[in-house]
Amino acid sequence: MKRNILIFVLDQLSARALDIYDGQFHMDAINALADDGVTVSDCYTPYPLCQPARAALWTGRYPHRNGVWSNGRQCPITPIDSSFPALGEAFADVGYETRHFGKKHDGGALRGFISSEEKEKKIPDECEAYPFNMDTYADAYTMDEVLSYLKDRQDERPLLMVVDLINPHNICGWIGKNKGAHKDVETGEELPELPPNFHFDDIASRPLPVQYLCCSHVRQGQTSEWNEDNFRHYLAAYRYYLSCADRCVAKTIEAYKEAGLWDDSLIVFTSDHGDNITARRSVTKQVTLYEEVTKVPLIFSGPAVKEKGVMKNGLSSLLDLFPTLLSVSGLPADSRLDGCDISAVINGGDLPQRRYITSEWYTEWGYTISPGRMIRSGNIKYMKYLEGNGEELYDTAKDPYEMRNLVHDPGYKDELDRMRTLFSEYIEESEDPFYSLQVKVDPRWREHKLGYENHTGPTAPEV
Ligand code: ZN
Repeated sequence: MKRNILIFVLDQLSARALDIYDGQFHMDAINALADDGVTVSDCYTPYPLCQPARAALWTGRYPHRNGVWSNGRQCPITPIDSSFPALGEAFADVGYETRHFGKKHDGGALRGFISSEEKEKKIPDECEAYPFNMDTYADAYTMDEVLSYLKDRQDERPLLMVVDLINPHNICGWIGKNKGAHKDVETGEELPELPPNFHFDDIASRPLPVQYLCCSHVRQGQTSEWNEDNFRHYLAAYRYYLSCADRCVAKTIEAYKEAGLWDDSLIVFTSDHGDNITARRSVTKQVTLYEEVTKVPLIFSGPAVKEKGVMKNGLSSLLDLFPTLLSVSGLPADSRLDGCDISAVINGGDLPQRRYITSEWYTEWGYTISPGRMIRSGNIKYMKYLEGNGEELYDTAKDPYEMRNLVHDPGYKDELDRMRTLFSEYIEESEDPFYSLQVKVDPRWREHKLGYENHTGPTAPEV
């Protein structure tokens, strides 16, 4: 059935930030979407970085299979091959109007959508503590485009519409404005609490790229002198920039309803990847494959969804969106897609059981290359990095904040063996070239005393 579909994609929203998951932040529009539909408990991004995540989302294929493995610069990507599946094209081909507004950064995977321009509209700051930058300006421009399009729409075809917002990503620029030792601008509001895993006692057990995250990542390096209060202000700023995106969601829904598109429509809400939200004293995202950066919100909402206010427990991936939307629209399945049809949750059913879900890392800009993989099966997560043969194992039921690496715990030897075997199966099944990839890291980025607070000076991309 050709129903209207509206997809919201935010940039850098961790599921764990939201109170509909296990986080602190209540957002009026996002919570309303959850109340009017079903939320998927454990949805992972295939790669916790903008361009690879987005290319994978719109093609429905693992990053290592579509070739978009980085954000560019020292590690340029090859644009997506036109023979690969593309969500926009699949829907345009069967008579949908396919419209995309906002951030692309897709490696060419948005083929088939008519996209609005990526421009900025400068708007004044609302307060001194949380200045706007190009990210919020881009969202302001996007919202003008979205609202004017919905107001004037004449097309009679069913509509697949994407609203791709950049916030809460403005938080990255906020770090630059607050780098090093500093005193925060006070706002008088109550500061969010630091998470249970803010203190990172287990760093010595972690793989090398995780131990020296501060040396490969500009934003992490900028926080090495922060105190706990500075990190709580980071969370407050993150909450603020998220609320900016939340207001955009509310305005879009209102205009969408006024345009007469709401009846029988399906609304999807998600994000490309998460944010560390101060877990392990870390910020934004890079290298690691922990819950904060890999787990993203996934909500199916609106008239098309049978159950309301329900959490669906189980594993899912952003790769599932493409096959799921084909299924809910009555279109044939595409055997080239790596995800799973989870449309049952929209129709009152449960998530399909699956053997595993994965996420991957290669590099952000190519200055340091740290190939890593995460595989989760049931409640057990296993991570593997090529550098130093680093491994991690967590029992997410008993240790949801990944405080203790169980790789050397004799009580988990059987689980470790099981996950290593499963990982080998995944490598073969998904044609993942992981073991043939090369690590690239200068020894000077593996030198200082352990602990992100002990980082001094520039990071690899700054040299
Ligand atoms: Zn460092």
